[in-house]
Amino acid sequence: MGFADIKTFENLQDDVITVNRCCACGACIAYCENQAFNVIEMDEYTPRFKTNKSVENCKECGYCYYICPQTEPLVDRLKEEHLIKDELGNIIDIFAARTTNAKIQEVGQDGGIVSTILTYLFETNNIDAAVVSEYDENFKPIPKIIYSKDDLAKSAGTRYSISSNILPLKDLTHIAEEIISHKKRIYDPDQLRIAFVGTPCQCRAIGKMKLLHIKPAHVISVVIGLFCFENFDYNKLIEILKSKTQINPSDIKKTNIKKNFFVTSKEETVKEVNIKDLDEAVRNHCHECDEFVGRYSDLSIGASGAPNGYSMILTRTEKGHSLIDSLLATGYIERYIIPADQISEWQPKKINWLKKMTSLKVKK
Ligand SMILES: Cc1cc2nc3c(=O)[nH]c(=O)nc-3n(C[C@H](O)[C@H](O)[C@H](O)COP(=O)(O)OP(=O)(O)OC[C@H]3O[C@@H](n4cnc5c(N)ncnc54)[C@H](O)[C@@H]3O)c2cc1C
Ligand code: SF4
Ligand code: SF4
Ligand code: SF4
Repeated sequence: MGFADIKTFENLQDDVITVNRCCACGACIAYCENQAFNVIEMDEYTPRFKTNKSVENCKECGYCYYICPQTEPLVDRLKEEHLIKDELGNIIDIFAARTTNAKIQEVGQDGGIVSTILTYLFETNNIDAAVVSEYDENFKPIPKIIYSKDDLAKSAGTRYSISSNILPLKDLTHIAEEIISHKKRIYDPDQLRIAFVGTPCQCRAIGKMKLLHIKPAHVISVVIGLFCFENFDYNKLIEILKSKTQINPSDIKKTNIKKNFFVTSKEETVKEVNIKDLDEAVRNHCHECDEFVGRYSDLSIGASGAPNGYSMILTRTEKGHSLIDSLLATGYIERYIIPADQISEWQPKKINWLKKMTSLKVKK
């Protein structure tokens, strides 16, 4: 590749952002800010030059283009690296499990597995921080770095709109300072150990960054991918939910999808919205997305295929697999016991189901 071929942020604008293919993951900005280039920022859900003058600050390094999960470069190398041969990616083991922690059972979306993994990692001092998602007062998802298991209750549960989870990694020095204030020890920002939770597209961006060994992905010690069928534009979603349920965003406690979309208010009223009514709120980039199960991760987790109250777990790397083994061995989570007469067909059936879901998503 000669210099003339290097694509820059202007190409990213043309090929991804202005044509509505951006999934607002924040990777481009997180990288650029880590280099202190002072060029781009997130305007709501749209990356853009900070000012007209900052166009001149762009070093035309091209990294933002290459690490973007919505561009072609590096995808083949990434597939090789992650041993991906089909739509589900590399699977070491697939099974259903749920948390044994009563508090997480209350707040977790499905089996509470993600929050329990993070609890374990904090309690065993295997991470200094985790990237998760919380809500603001208007039920808008906000990406968040948390530093203790005590902050996990607020982040549990699924937000069905974008949470730009890579974005807060743009300031590693600030993160290191926060960790110092929590643990009262000096930390080198480059030695941090951060767990990352995100949608498949976000995990793909982290994978591309790791492939290039660039900041800030060097501090991500474990990648937890969520299953993801689609994601909604926050403003459109709230408008439709308001008109169909008469519940104000500030009064929503939880949402979940079980065939249809369910809204639970803070007063525990549950309203059902036909999932088809939300079609117009689906973000554009999700229409062409072919990832359902988060292939570029250490382990991926979702509800699809799991019995009620459990999550499906796909372990993908030795790291992800041994992490889950430790949670099982120490009783943090418990495995779903497959009825004796279903043992031989259970796993193949689940794999077929997840393949079917992926192809449904691609055809949509
Ligand atoms: C947009 C979206 C669509 C999904 N669609 C499906 C689907 O079609 N089928 C399916 O089986 N599963 C889907 N999932 C995954 C599922 O909803 C649960 O997240 C998963 O089963 C884990 O549940 P849990 O009880 O283990 O997690 P919990 O212990 O409740 O933890 C959930 C974790 O996910 C993080 N999180 C929540 N929302 C977001 C977000 N928008 N972006 C990044 N991180 C987030 C939270 O911060 C938390 O750390 C979807 C998830 C998302 C975010
Ligand atoms: S300096 Fe590099 S990473 Fe930053 S906007 Fe320009 S090309 Fe992208
Ligand atoms: S890296 Fe992420 S935020 Fe940046 S243009 Fe690509 S999809 Fe959008
Ligand atoms: S459907 Fe695909 S593009 Fe949309 S949020 Fe989920 S993983 Fe990202």
